[in-house]
Amino acid sequence: MSTEQPITAADKLRELKLPVSSKINYKLDSVYPVLKGWFVNGGIKKKHKLIKQSEATLEEILRPGEEVLYVAKGVQYSFWEQYFLGVWANMINQTVFVLTNARLLLFHTNTSGKPKDMYWMIYYSEIVQFKTSWFNGALVVKLKDGKTFKFAGFTGTDKKQMPLVFKAAAASYQERGFNPKVTQSRENLCSHCYTVVPKGETICESCGAEFWKPKDVALRSLMFPSWGDFVMGHYIIGFMELIGYIVWWVIVGTVLVAGIAKGDPEGLVAALLALGALFAFAHIPDAILTYYIASKGLNRRRPPDPSRIAADEPAEVDAQLQ
Ligand SMILES: [Zn+2]
Repeated sequence: MSTEQPITAADKLRELKLPVSSKINYKLDSVYPVLKGWFVNGGIKKKHKLIKQSEATLEEILRPGEEVLYVAKGVQYSFWEQYFLGVWANMINQTVFVLTNARLLLFHTNTSGKPKDMYWMIYYSEIVQFKTSWFNGALVVKLKDGKTFKFAGFTGTDKKQMPLVFKAAAASYQERGFNPKVTQSRENLCSHCYTVVPKGETICESCGAEFWKPKDVALRSLMFPSWGDFVMGHYIIGFMELIGYIVWWVIVGTVLVAGIAKGDPEGLVAALLALGALFAFAHIPDAILTYYIASKGLNRRRPPDPSRIAADEPAEVDAQLQ
């Protein structure tokens, strides 16, 4: 009979000298499910590095009693974004998944996994399907309100483990009869205090921070392509668009100058057509794309302001944790 003790994730992390925050309630054996095998240390180190990037956020976002069960990073995938933005779409779609015993937290991050300024949460009762597609290996999350999100870039272990964690957490919801009210399946969280900001709202009732209305950002892009992207802090995409827009203006400007110089009706018609084309092919598509991107979550507009705070209500998430 073997007397060898089964190794725990806590032992393994100690052995590899990978410290974790004592302020965060990790269920380590669930967060690090694979502890044995070839090249396992590399995988553990990589995951630890990813989790470290989110620890400061987790310390603030987690409710008392909330346990971290799994953390992984993927890239949200949408056909239209890939079509219009190409590789740049990946920059605005890096998403860290944190599965806790109460909910699924989603952080928009940079490519190395550091949370940026968009946060969401999904109660497990709002998830209809959480599984890997046999077709292309993407992780597909189908929600009660009809929305479907697809993610690429998860590891094989992530794709195996997350649905299991989800299943167990969903079962615990059922057992407790926990079925919280939501304003949309994937709720937006305030990027200052992490309170739910209800669907369609742009002011956080808890800290008074203000966010952009998607139509206001889109209107800016309609007036001046790339303006909306700069407002949302998507500087690289905004800059690329600005270059495209300048190229447009070089072409349109040439036709305009020639048309006006000619001074005859034909020249003026050509000039008007050039302006119309500029609007149709630069301003309008950018406004539509900006609206779509701005609608994904909350974009910071004004910092927290006590004068905008509404009455305090206990968070529903606490009910699952008691
Ligand atoms: Zn807030």
